[in-house]
Order: sequence, then C-alpha cells, then structure tokens
Amino acid sequence: MQRIAIVGAGIGGLSAAARLGKMGYAVDLYEKNPVPGGKAVEHRQSTSSGSFRWDCGPSLMTMPHILQDLFAFCEERMEDHIPLTPVDPACRYHWTDGTVIDEDRSFWNQPAVRKYLDYAEGLYALSAPAFLQRPPRDWWKALGAEMIEHIKHLPKFMNMQSMATFNQKFFNDKHLLQIFDRFATYNGSSPFKTLSTFAIIPYVEASFGAWYPEGGIARIPEQLALLAERQGVRLHYNHEIHDLNALDASIRICNGDSITAHQRWLPQSHEGRNMLRHDLACSGYIMQLGVRKQFRELEHHNILFSDHYREEFDDIFVKKKLPREPTIYIAISSKRPGSTDAPDGCENWFVMVNAPATTPLDCKGYEKVVFDRLSEFGIKLEAKDIACCNSFSADDFERQHNAWKGSLYGWASHTMQTALFRPPLQHRQHPGLYFTGGTTHPGGGIPLVLLSGKIVSEMVLQDFPHTRFTPMPAV
Ligand SMILES: Cc1cc2nc3c(=O)[nH]c(=O)nc-3n(C[C@H](O)[C@H](O)[C@H](O)COP(=O)(O)OP(=O)(O)OC[C@H]3O[C@@H](n4cnc5c(N)ncnc54)[C@H](O)[C@@H]3O)c2cc1C
Repeated sequence: MQRIAIVGAGIGGLSAAARLGKMGYAVDLYEKNPVPGGKAVEHRQSTSSGSFRWDCGPSLMTMPHILQDLFAFCEERMEDHIPLTPVDPACRYHWTDGTVIDEDRSFWNQPAVRKYLDYAEGLYALSAPAFLQRPPRDWWKALGAEMIEHIKHLPKFMNMQSMATFNQKFFNDKHLLQIFDRFATYNGSSPFKTLSTFAIIPYVEASFGAWYPEGGIARIPEQLALLAERQGVRLHYNHEIHDLNALDASIRICNGDSITAHQRWLPQSHEGRNMLRHDLACSGYIMQLGVRKQFRELEHHNILFSDHYREEFDDIFVKKKLPREPTIYIAISSKRPGSTDAPDGCENWFVMVNAPATTPLDCKGYEKVVFDRLSEFGIKLEAKDIACCNSFSADDFERQHNAWKGSLYGWASHTMQTALFRPPLQHRQHPGLYFTGGTTHPGGGIPLVLLSGKIVSEMVLQDFPHTRFTPMPAV
C-alpha cells in the first residue's frame, strides 16, 4: 500500500486526507498544534462574567455544496455531522455618515448590483471548471462542448483594470462602491491593486449564500478530522515537521504555508527565492472581546468602513504599518438564536482590522485606535464593559500556524501571475511532493481549500494509481 504523509491539519490538509484515506492509501497526518483546524480553530475563556467562545479565524462560509461533496465522496452526509444555518443578512455595513446597509436578498436584487452579477456570472462559468476544480496542469481538460458557450467571456480575464477602477463603471453610489471594493480583501488583497477578475467573489457570495455551522466554525475541522479517521487516516498532533524530505513516505503533501515550506523545510532553491518577490496578502490585527453589554445596532457580521479607504490600503501594502483609520470587522456569533457563545446579557466580539504581513509588527497602543474609531460610530465601550480582551497579530499567525510573515493567504492577488498561477500544487524538483491549502492553488477561504485538498488527492491518484479504488461520480 502506498504511504502518504500529510503535514498540517488545516481544512485543506484534512480534505486531502479524508479523500486519500477513502481511496485506500495509508495516510499519516502530522499537525504541530494539539487540535485540528489551523486558522479555523476556536478559543474559549472563563471570566468573572461567565464563559465566552470565539471563532479565531473564519466566521462564515459559502459554497456549502463543496463540503457536502467531500462527505458524499466518503459515502456520508454532511448534514448528519455539520448542520449549517444561513446567515441573513450576511453582513451589515456601517458608515460614520449614519448610512447602514444590510447585505440581504433585496441588496443583491438592486439593478446596479444585478448588472454587476450578470457580468461576473460569465467569469464564474468559465473559471469554475477550468481553474477552481482542476490543477493548472489540467485546465485544458475542461474544454468540452459545455464550455463553448462560455468562451465568449474569455476577454473578461484579460481586463487588466484594478477592481476599484472596474467597480466604478457599475456603481455611482459611494457606499455600494466601497462594499464591492471590499470583496478584494476576501483573499487578502487591495481593491486598488487586484484585478477586476475578482468580481467573481461577490458573485459567489450572492449565488451560494453565507452559512454558519451550529456551534461555530471549528466544528468543520473537528468533524473533518473524525471523517478522516473513519477513512483510516492516522492523526498525530503536537508533531511539527522540520524537513519535508525526511518524511518516511513516498508521497508527501504539505498543508503548511507553501512560502514557509520553501524557505524553511526544503533546501534553498531558485523557486523559493522567487517566491519572496511578490506582495504578501494582508495579515490581521484581532481582538477577542468579552463584552458585558448588548448592541442592538450590530448584526452577527458587521463592517464599519474607513472614510479614507485608499489611504488604508496604502498604509497596509505600501507603508506596511497598521492603518491609521481602519475599516473594522466585528463578528458576534452570540447573536445567533440559541447561541451559548456568551453569558446572558453579554456578547462575544471578534474584532478584526486588516494589517500588513510583516514581522515583528508594532501593535503598541493599537487597541486605543480601534476603540476610538468605534466611538466615531457611536459604539462606546468603557473598561467596565469589557470582561476580557485578547489581541493577536502577524507575529501570532507566524508562530501559531507557520504563516510566512503572518500573511493569511500567502501571496496577494495583485498581478496576473499571483492571481492565476499561485505557488504550485506539485514540486518541480522533488517527485512525490505536493502542496495544498490557502497559499497554493486555487486560493484561500474554506471552499477553496476544500477544493485544493480534492484537487491534490486527484493528482496523487493520477500520478501514483491505487488499484483498489474506483472513483465515484461527484454529487
Ligand atoms: C482571521 C481570519 C479570518 C478568515 N475569515 C474567513 C471567512 O470568513 N471565510 C472563509 O471561508 N475563510 C476565511 N479565512 C480563511 C480560511 O480560514 C483559510 O483560508 C483556511 O482555513 C486555510 O486552510 P488551510 O488548509 O490553508 O490551512 P491552515 O489553516 O493554514 O492550516 C495549516 C496547518 O498546518 C499546520 N502546520 C504548519 N506547519 C507545520 C509543520 N511544519 N508541521 C506540522 N504542522 C504544521 C498548522 O499548525 C495548521 O494547523 C479567514 C482566515 C483568517 C486567519
């Protein structure tokens, strides 16, 4: 039986592990931390006011059919293990001029928004089969009769305008424009630098919805680890790997950050040095707050926009410092019906500001910048309102997840190369060495890393065929 070693129990590593286990390979998975999940773990804390729980990374997911497909591949049902509930509105957007917009059904049905989505639908129709669901080496296999009708959308991929410039063609309203510009940050990029191709991101959110697992996002990796174990995968926690070539397996899959892997866990190479030439996707400055109050004006997911959006991205990507006037994201899962994530009368705030991927990052005094900015929206928190406050930034992401310079997604998608040709899934010089997860193809975010695990498992099956396995049709 072919032996496979997977490094990292992030969602991408677990997706690959469960599939390869099901295919009949002998899979060992090594994770440096004591629990599965990588960036998608949770934190619990007891305080004098009671117990709080926070999602440490993702706070919603889209494209649930991709998770369903993974369970179906293993002949199980996602619904039996991870009940998902819709998040509606997916987000509430706030401005200091008092404007509040909810991202709900009526939001997506506005004429200007519909026109935008109609455009982006073509991008999705072409890129989903050719790019999202295959390794770049096999894109041509998507060329079939059903693709012919979508070929007319190909010139849209050649549009070299920035997302921000492109969005201006569709939106005169400055608030709508800012909402659509912000979708660039879903992969850690700047709307003023990333390509218009990423109009695909709001299309995906509008079409497939926003979802939240009962009990928190950490239920996803927790259940995927159990699913992998049911396929015979052996999980080894508290086990950090320092040399990918020293693993005792003919097939090795690295789910750790691929930039870090090329700098630290493989011999230095031209490829590794080249990787450092590109902009890194942003990191985050995060505060987990136990709040002894409830705020009716806030939803589960909230964005409090900066009045100086371009300057915010200049601070992050050019000056490489925390933004002077940040856009603030607040997720409060305790607002969900039946939630036990905060004691009665309290809320569990996950506050995030986009931050530069650079270490060490000077965060001294930044809590005050965030609290001062919140008060400009009329959201006042005094010391007596706060049961606990933990803050994290790039240095913590680097230490906890081996994320290069604390970047959440590896490269930013600021050029055609970094958007479409991410660090490869397969090492050119080391046979049998593959990569999976948010820093490689097809990109970051829960659905894409699930796909990354799927794609890499199919590459392994193709390159090292397993005689006992007959692929099942996907759902
Ligand atoms: C703050 C934040 C908010 C986010 N919000 C969203 C969101 O709302 N929706 C969404 O879909 N996505 C979101 N994301 C992105 C999403 O969380 C990630 O893209 C995804 O979870 C990454 O999965 P991965 O498979 O790449 O692995 P990672 O989560 O990066 O995990 C890699 C694993 O490898 C382990 N590892 C690394 N090096 C080694 C080693 N040498 N030996 C052993 N183990 C090792 C690490 O400990 C880790 O467990 C967010 C991310 C963050 C950080």
